[in-house]
Amino acid sequence: MSDISPKMETDSAVYKTLLESTKAIPWKIDWASMKFAYIGPQIEGVLGWTQASWVGVEDWAARIHPDERESIVNFCVAQSQAGVDHEADYRALTQDGGYVWIRDVVHVVRKPDGSVDALIGFMFDISEQKKTEAKLVDLRKELEVMSFKDGLTDVANRRMFDSVLEVEWDNARRNNHALSLIMLDIDYFKQYNDHYGHVQGDNCLKQVAKVLSAAATRSRDFFARFGGEEFMIILPEASENSACIVAERCRNLILKERIAHEKSQISNTLTISLGVGTIIPSQQDQSIAFIELVDKRLYQAKQNGRNCIAAGA
Ligand code: GH3
Ligand code: MG
Ligand code: MG
Repeated sequence: MSDISPKMETDSAVYKTLLESTKAIPWKIDWASMKFAYIGPQIEGVLGWTQASWVGVEDWAARIHPDERESIVNFCVAQSQAGVDHEADYRALTQDGGYVWIRDVVHVVRKPDGSVDALIGFMFDISEQKKTEAKLVDLRKELEVMSFKDGLTDVANRRMFDSVLEVEWDNARRNNHALSLIMLDIDYFKQYNDHYGHVQGDNCLKQVAKVLSAAATRSRDFFARFGGEEFMIILPEASENSACIVAERCRNLILKERIAHEKSQISNTLTISLGVGTIIPSQQDQSIAFIELVDKRLYQAKQNGRNCIAAGA
């Protein structure tokens, strides 16, 4: 019989059973030799590698995903040398070539003189957690995209319009460039809804948005639903003349669709009216005043008989 009492022997058997029946995988590394003194048998179930295959720290390092291997090893070595308990998340290679997300929680055991004696720790399989995190990130991204998109027509919404206009406004002011804006509105859309019903009204809006979103073709040109049956086109670095050409293209694109509108007072198909404005913003100018100006032009186009464009000159 050794100097270990039967009581201690029972205790360590109990601890061993406990350690080996938890989902967390316990391990111990001897600091002087950098060899595994122990690793729980559960490791085989999680990663496929046998208990016996974990000989030294190099086996641990070699099984970390190459993308994070260097940073994880450096971090863990530095923390251990400093005698600081730490934890690290990394992807561990499985025997069949896959990866499992592991959280390694490490405790540094010191000798009475303060130097590091051993590292003991637990590895946790956190794949499910990571999957949930990834799903949340995707959802957040989707929400972000959705919050800038109009739910009915799928084009950019008013919020996005405000953000883009702000950026382009600053850009134009800084660079002394012209910025053009087209505001357009469907003619007699109230009558359209009243006659064809709201569902067909919605479908009509979708069709109009789809057609008009292709009207402006330069990479920074931007189309949005401003609200109701009103849409906006931002044309950075565009003169009033070129903005009027885009506006005329919009008007014609809608005419070409030949969307029946029996109750329109000016035509038997759907038409739009457009207001166009161009500005080289100075320090004093406000974008809100510019929008109001273009809105007035749109009103002018309505006054001029609809299905037409009103611009500055
Ligand atoms: P005008 O030629 O002067 O522009 O007349 P209008 O009838 O088009 O203008 P008004 O602003 O009086 O009416 C706009 C209508 O657009 C009222 C509203 O019912 C309709 N509308 C706004 N948003 C939606 C929508 O999301 N779906 C549908 N179906 N209709 C909408
Ligand atoms: Mg209208
Ligand atoms: Mg309107």
